[in-house]
Amino acid sequence: MATLNRADWYDIARDTNWTPRYASVEEIFPDEMSDAFGLTVEQWEAYDEPFKISYREYVAVQSKKDADAYSVKAALARANFFDKAAPGWISILKMHYGAICLAEYIAVLGEAKMARFGKAPGMRNMATFGSLDEMRHTQIQLYFAHENIHKSRQLDWGLKTYHTQNWAGIAGRAMLDDVILGRDAATMSIMLTFALEQGFTNLQFLGLAADAAKMGDYSFSNLISSVQTDEARHAQIGTAALKVLIANGKKAQAQQAVEIAFWRNWRLFFSLTGPAIDYLTPLEHRHQSFKEFVHEFIVAQFERAIEDLGLDRPWYWDFFLDTTNYYQHSGHLELWFLRQTLWWNPAGGVTPAERAWLEEKYPGWNQRWGRLWDVIADNVQHGRQDKLFPATVPMLCNICGLSIGGIPGQGHHVKGHWTDYGERRYYFCSAPCKWIFDIEQQRYAGHKSIVDRLLAGDIQPGTIDGTLEYMGLFPGERGDDADDYAWARSALPPMNDRSAGHADAAAGL
Ligand code: MN
Ligand code: MN
Repeated sequence: MATLNRADWYDIARDTNWTPRYASVEEIFPDEMSDAFGLTVEQWEAYDEPFKISYREYVAVQSKKDADAYSVKAALARANFFDKAAPGWISILKMHYGAICLAEYIAVLGEAKMARFGKAPGMRNMATFGSLDEMRHTQIQLYFAHENIHKSRQLDWGLKTYHTQNWAGIAGRAMLDDVILGRDAATMSIMLTFALEQGFTNLQFLGLAADAAKMGDYSFSNLISSVQTDEARHAQIGTAALKVLIANGKKAQAQQAVEIAFWRNWRLFFSLTGPAIDYLTPLEHRHQSFKEFVHEFIVAQFERAIEDLGLDRPWYWDFFLDTTNYYQHSGHLELWFLRQTLWWNPAGGVTPAERAWLEEKYPGWNQRWGRLWDVIADNVQHGRQDKLFPATVPMLCNICGLSIGGIPGQGHHVKGHWTDYGERRYYFCSAPCKWIFDIEQQRYAGHKSIVDRLLAGDIQPGTIDGTLEYMGLFPGERGDDADDYAWARSALPPMNDRSAGHADAAAGL
């Protein structure tokens, strides 16, 4: 039987708009769920998705992807990669599963919202597939994480993170709620698929799959590649939406949505991927620094994407570029210091060979950051246990949920940012986070960081132990140094042989 080519029937088949008689268009597509930009259904009819696929083709391709990923996993199950891999790489796996598995599920709901409330038939079509994609990503990554759960309870955080009051889980939820669950379909298409997926995660997954293959973790590499191929397709939903919005005079509003989402994503992206690339990946498998990765992929790709659309660079662009020099270093130092609050074990990553690599990639690293690690190493060497853990919690930003990251010591350049609203003062890590809060203060004012909760007496007892329990971290799950402090005990000369800068560094800590 002869069949038509897809191009001959696709446009008619996907154009599912009709004229409703029993309900008004406004009732079917309320602005708060569909389109905060207020375009008409007719204006949205210009929406043209660049990636066209039929349901039959989709199912065939997806089932093959699943079969490939699961069969590679089954074939390699006996190789016991998990037992032999470097501790830093195991930490990356645990960090990844805990941060990503249920974020994929939140994306299911986001795609489903676009599939129901998107005013453009093409958006609804692509997002239907996108929702199925994200369901697959949730299930397959939970399944892979579960394989080794009997070897480490920390892998349980693949399922657990977003159901806890862990500070990182709170920060992740707040971002995903702002960008996905708490937005209308049109705004979300920009924030989720353009800024988050096309801007960050699609490229991150490409890099992660390549790193996993270099590590010999072919099971994880195949998993991540399989996920990434779906992301590359449905991440195009937002670009097509931006074209419609800009053509209909909504550039300023679209620009603002891009700027909010890009910054919120950056604040979480650097804090996990930065330490993973610059500190946790075993030295012999590193091929570029986090800064190089960000500039080669994120910056170049994003600048090209916004230029093609006729958008502008975000107003904070120069500041953003500058932060690629230091956010990952202050973030790693902080995560390591707060390691009890994590579901993975951060590696120090500062042996002499690693420090030489860091100094080469980031000239001045030793003077800026190395001297702080010297103080930690000295405390390890002298058994000052109490100095290896924080006595209190850091002040957290009321937008991104992370603490202020800056370059410590002489010339300390962190600045305070705050807004007084209602009964209280809200603190921020940076000018862009304050800018986001000030755009819609009532939207963000109700959110309480873990520090707000501690100060309000919500956490009892308000001790470090009480806070760890509040965060859902039970013994066997709390993070510790991945290498049992070997880097600090064996690799460094005694304190008095080193540079004279350590007294300042001690003050900086
Ligand atoms: Mn996904
Ligand atoms: Mn996605």
